[in-house]
Amino acid sequence: MSDLARYSRQILFAGIGETGQQALMQSRVAVVGAGALGTVISNHLVRSGVGYVRLIDRDLVELSNLQRQTLFDEGDAQFNLPKAAAAQKRLNEINSTVTVDAVIADLNLDNAEELINRMDVIVDGTDNFMTRFLINDVAVKYGIPWVHGAAVSSRGMFAVFKPGITPCYRCLYPQVPAGMGETCDTVGVLSPLTDIIGSYQAMETIKLLVGHDTTPNLEQIDIWDHVSLQMDISKGKNPNCRACGKREFDFLNRASAPQETYSTLCGRDTVQVNPRNKRELDLKAAAENLKKIGKVAANDFLVRFSPDEDITIVLFKDARVLIHGTNDLAKAKSLYSKYIGN
Ligand SMILES: [Zn+2]
Repeated sequence: MSDLARYSRQILFAGIGETGQQALMQSRVAVVGAGALGTVISNHLVRSGVGYVRLIDRDLVELSNLQRQTLFDEGDAQFNLPKAAAAQKRLNEINSTVTVDAVIADLNLDNAEELINRMDVIVDGTDNFMTRFLINDVAVKYGIPWVHGAAVSSRGMFAVFKPGITPCYRCLYPQVPAGMGETCDTVGVLSPLTDIIGSYQAMETIKLLVGHDTTPNLEQIDIWDHVSLQMDISKGKNPNCRACGKREFDFLNRASAPQETYSTLCGRDTVQVNPRNKRELDLKAAAENLKKIGKVAANDFLVRFSPDEDITIVLFKDARVLIHGTNDLAKAKSLYSKYIGN
């Protein structure tokens, strides 16, 4: 079988053809996040023959991931394998002719430029705003197109950002939206939804790689009520945008990055998370949300939330958070992102 035979069904498609296939095979793509979206995206890219796929993820496989994270199985969850490594193994079995590079790390301002700057496309499989702003800064700084995607509950969205051509993510969201939003861990997420959003993202990535026009829209879908909305963002460029207008890459700059700071509390099994942007939390709403997924005790000053027996998360009104039951910063970061949202 020639190298190309395995791709015959997409080479037959006029929009790709043999030239497009060659382009895919010579392409480099970074997928940030190997969760519900990331596993769907990387599955399509690897099967389609994208030559180099770098998959970056900080988390471990858990049983509750299997409902939607299509590259994992019960064995991966039982052994708590890192998602990037488990996905890489499966993807190598699917297509051994492409390179899958697994990076077990949290994408942050220290490593982002090195990890995603020499790519043809960056794809967003993350679950939080902070990482998206970071991706956007790298993408704008180095002129790399990126494909945004998000999915929670029954609602999802995706969009393509092309530096110099379309607005950037920060043109649409000048500031990081306040936390305590809905996350997959507080309101759930449906598996057909993440499959659809991830598939759209993979399709837009392939279109970028073969030089085809991409959608000019921010597309939103509710898969439960079956409604969709296309918002044309092509004219949404903000000349005063910090990222693409002023080229101030706040999220790559330690002095200006509005990152939460994480610190272990001396002598205690506790990590303190201090948001850079102080804001007042709606503790009542937080308590109501968290009640659905764990034990909650609240008073006027704080909410205590235990997702399981080992971990207690304390939220204060000023958005400061204490995570009891661990002194592992990576774990704390993951818990914060899961239950508080950033
Ligand atoms: Zn911009």
